[in-house]
Amino acid sequence: TIWCLGSVNADHFYRLPHLPAPGETLAASDYSRGLGGKGANMAVAAARGGAPVELVGAVGPDGLWMKARLADYGVSVRHLAESAEASGHAIISVDAAGENQITIYGGANRALEPARIDTAFAEAREGDIFVCQNETNLQRAGADIARSRGLRVVYAAAPFEVEAVRKMLDVADLLVLNAVEARQLQEATGLAPEALPVAGIVITLGADGVRWIDTKTGQSRDFPAVAVTAVDTTGAGDTFTGYLLAGLDRGLSMEAAIPLAAKAAALKVTRRGTADAIPSLSEVETWAPP
Ligand code: ADP
Repeated sequence: TIWCLGSVNADHFYRLPHLPAPGETLAASDYSRGLGGKGANMAVAAARGGAPVELVGAVGPDGLWMKARLADYGVSVRHLAESAEASGHAIISVDAAGENQITIYGGANRALEPARIDTAFAEAREGDIFVCQNETNLQRAGADIARSRGLRVVYAAAPFEVEAVRKMLDVADLLVLNAVEARQLQEATGLAPEALPVAGIVITLGADGVRWIDTKTGQSRDFPAVAVTAVDTTGAGDTFTGYLLAGLDRGLSMEAAIPLAAKAAALKVTRRGTADAIPSLSEVETWAPP
């Protein structure tokens, strides 16, 4: 089982003739709503990738549709609390040229209660996998409980936040970063990735593929991306991470899980959308890339 301590966000997209200037009121020509948030994305990807997934987090009174959709995608939402805070959300304005402007509110994601995490993890078993990101509170508390119960701790240091990362480094077994985050981490700590105190590091490099560093042996391996024409790369990293963990949970080696996760992420970037666009394992397996 994968235990994802993570965020659930409503992504609200507005199409505008231009991005609003201070004080300006503008009518949007189009509106759409989607499920997002790094926690939700990773949980959906792991569930679509074939693993049992428990999402530990919270939505507000406005987020019940997200809870229902997560359940539709196969994510267990038994430990997704309904809080009095507004759900996490993003207001995404896109102008005619495709330029965007984004406002994010953490809301319920940032108001998780320690007691609920204790209750949730009382069910976790040795051999399960814990994963968290930086869009909630209580990551370290969750990771400590997970560790004490014999779970493998995976940490996606995204969005990058120096203080959050510093708190997590000595509890994480596996760190997953994109290239920008890897550079930010190196600048913040003064340490090259291979010198960090974690057992393994996976660095995703967009269309350039994936690097896996086994810090115990000091060995590094590169895996190519699947060549596709990308139409929307949002959620690529989250799809990759969810599929990677689902593979590990199913008993695959890193060498087998990484290429499968890269294939799933490549299929996702050919589709518009975030959580709603993450492919299922059978779609990934039968897909013959161009
Ligand atoms: P993030 O979404 O966190 O910025 P990346 O851009 O590194 O992360 O993407 C994660 C993974 O998704 C990559 O390692 C790669 O396997 C896949 N991917 C991302 N963009 C592309 C692309 N344009 N073509 C093929 N695969 C991609």
